[in-house]
Amino acid sequence: MTLTRRAILAGTALAAAPTGSQVLAQTPAAAPAAQGASSQQAPGFYRYKVGDIEVTAIHDGFARRPLEGFVRNAELAQVQQAAQEAFLPNDVLPITFTTLVLQNNGRLTLIDTGNGDMGAPTSGHWMRNFRAAGFDPARVDTVVISHFHGDHINGLRLKDGTAVFSKAEVMVPAAEWDFWMDDARMNQAPEGMKAAFQGARRVFGPIAKDVKRYDAGKEVITGLTSVAAPGHTPGHTAFLLSSGAGKLMVMSDITNHPALFVRNPDWSAVFDMDADQARATRRKMLDMAAAERAQVAFYHAPFPATGHIAKDGNGFRFVPIQWNPAI
Ligand SMILES: [Zn+2]
Repeated sequence: MTLTRRAILAGTALAAAPTGSQVLAQTPAAAPAAQGASSQQAPGFYRYKVGDIEVTAIHDGFARRPLEGFVRNAELAQVQQAAQEAFLPNDVLPITFTTLVLQNNGRLTLIDTGNGDMGAPTSGHWMRNFRAAGFDPARVDTVVISHFHGDHINGLRLKDGTAVFSKAEVMVPAAEWDFWMDDARMNQAPEGMKAAFQGARRVFGPIAKDVKRYDAGKEVITGLTSVAAPGHTPGHTAFLLSSGAGKLMVMSDITNHPALFVRNPDWSAVFDMDADQARATRRKMLDMAAAERAQVAFYHAPFPATGHIAKDGNGFRFVPIQWNPAI
């Protein structure tokens, strides 16, 4: 039996059809629009606890990328098949952006900042959602950056040059700084990569002497330890957030969309600068998350971008958490 509108109205499509058709008969033909109904989405923020630390995921919207050419080492048909299995479009991939806010001992810390006013027209919702969650950019104490790609750093500074988090200390991976702020390397970079070097200078140049560079394997702020996760970029960093028995693996860009790269951890996204190293890092981190049944957060997973990793065949599955109305 196929599930068509006609079959449902005829009461033949579902086992529960007799009551279903009664319900339909009682429904007014034209229900008045609910009060406050509009085409606006609810604000994109979601809170959860890791021990005593309150985490708030803040959504910045999404960007579309053509599937063609997105995975370097798989045929388009295979990539389309993976997209289809996840009920995603077979021509473009919607890539979402979710940053984290940590409230810990009265201090406010951000991990990454979103696209600011420099991203795709379907992004740039970060500040509205951040404020809707009750936060004030002027009260951010620390901004911890995972790597220097524009979708992670551009929220620090508006296009017109204004610093968004006026009193925040900015902390960046030392290895990332050394790579992207090296003028000789920028001058040797292929044309297509120059914009990323210039983007890092736009954001960090005016505060260069104040930016704090952190090493891997260090407690960056209380409860947040940096984990070297190179490959996506040379200094790409993941984090372990822990408080009491609570633990969260902040995966940053270990994978892009989980439907492609958690399922197929050996695939290389076009953004991975060192594909082999990124693959090794990805396998290691996903294996660890699965073995420890740890909660994970990804920057590019569907909102609220947190869940767990299960082993599945030669790859893994991302299992989202259930919405919890309590924190
Ligand atoms: Zn990214």
